Amino acid sequence: MELSQALLARYKDVVAPAIYRYTDLTFVRGEGAYLYDADGRRYLDFSAGIATMAVGHQHPRVVEAVIQQAQRLFHAAAHIGVMEPYVALLEKVRSLAPGRLKDGKGVLLNSGSEAVEAALKLARYVTGRPLIIAFQHAFHGRPMGALAATASNPLFRRRLSGLAVGVYHVPYPTPRAPFGRSPEERGRIVLELIEEALRTVLPPEDVAGILVEPILGEGGYFVPPPGFLEGLRALCDRYGFLFIADEVQTGLGRTGRWFAVEHWGVGPDILILGKALGGGLPLGAVLARRELADAWDPGAHGSTFGGNPLACQAGLATIAIIEEEGLLERARQIGAYLRERFEEARSSMPLIGDVRGLGLMLGVELVEPDTGRPAAAHIGEIVRAISRAGVVITKCGEATLRVAPPLILTREQADEGVEIILNILRGWRIR
Ligand code: PMP
Repeated sequence: MELSQALLARYKDVVAPAIYRYTDLTFVRGEGAYLYDADGRRYLDFSAGIATMAVGHQHPRVVEAVIQQAQRLFHAAAHIGVMEPYVALLEKVRSLAPGRLKDGKGVLLNSGSEAVEAALKLARYVTGRPLIIAFQHAFHGRPMGALAATASNPLFRRRLSGLAVGVYHVPYPTPRAPFGRSPEERGRIVLELIEEALRTVLPPEDVAGILVEPILGEGGYFVPPPGFLEGLRALCDRYGFLFIADEVQTGLGRTGRWFAVEHWGVGPDILILGKALGGGLPLGAVLARRELADAWDPGAHGSTFGGNPLACQAGLATIAIIEEEGLLERARQIGAYLRERFEEARSSMPLIGDVRGLGLMLGVELVEPDTGRPAAAHIGEIVRAISRAGVVITKCGEATLRVAPPLILTREQADEGVEIILNILRGWRIR
């Protein structure tokens, strides 16, 4: 039996099916923009470990940074003493951060969703307000709020009673939203819906902040309409809400800027990071305006592994490479090129309904040619076919191919990936 088949059989025998898997591929090694399976087959990686591996796999500088740190110290815990990589990474992130976060303070966690939870706790703690406004189609993680079950010290729950996070969801102005005739109008309508809620069911003095992905990630790679994020910012200023930007997926170069909010000149009060931040090792961060962070009292948050020195070193090396290799510019250029190639294919392929995104966060929406509806019944099989053909890819939204390669992707690799993808799409029949 092939090694991949044998490994897959072992996986299926021991891993709970709750962990949804896009493909049956196995991965044993990575190098740059490529992954290799247990049988030595090579795949071009258009998924980057879910939009994570910004500088590609096993970049020699990242590997070296981790090895050097591994020889010095694995773990000592930020609660017990000070570790330089923890400090250095927050200093670096802060130096890149937009607006009033430039002199902010933060904490490091182990994942994007842990960072989201920390940000929500911070927002509730410092405002004393229990509710959050968030968006339909948004993705912010899966933990259930571990603190709801934690009962070892009242300090951990201070100002957070009634622990289920109160979230008021409003629609997101995607082109498929059932209202509005133009992107701008849809954006305005959502802002009005929030105002209407504040006049009716949502007491403004109970709202801590608005949690938003600057570009919808898992929800379908939808870029917000012009004026929308600026409108949310104005709303936050008017009512004293905190603007909480979840840049777990969009942050650190993916969209061609360090942070996606920069495309609209919007400065968040709290910034949430993950994915690329750890260069492939588990890491998340919350960076807040200085006075907010200073009001988050000692003991209000914590984590055993958060800011682990190995992950911090991988993150520091990753950020240095993005800077030195000009990868923001590369993400813009290769992103524009990929977009052009898919747009061109769209003109002759009715299966491609939309091409959207920014930088190397590109969505290629597949639709049923007859109805124009997202090809949701087909996307899973199409993703598997593309992956088997040599390009590892995932989906987002209902039926959108999610093109999120490492930022180091070359033009030749972009062409290689596009050819393989289009070849599968060209032969696909929707009956
Ligand atoms: N926020 C966003 C915007 C995300 O895309 C994700 C992960 N896809 C998360 C939070 C959760 O991150 P993690 O899986 O690292 O917990």
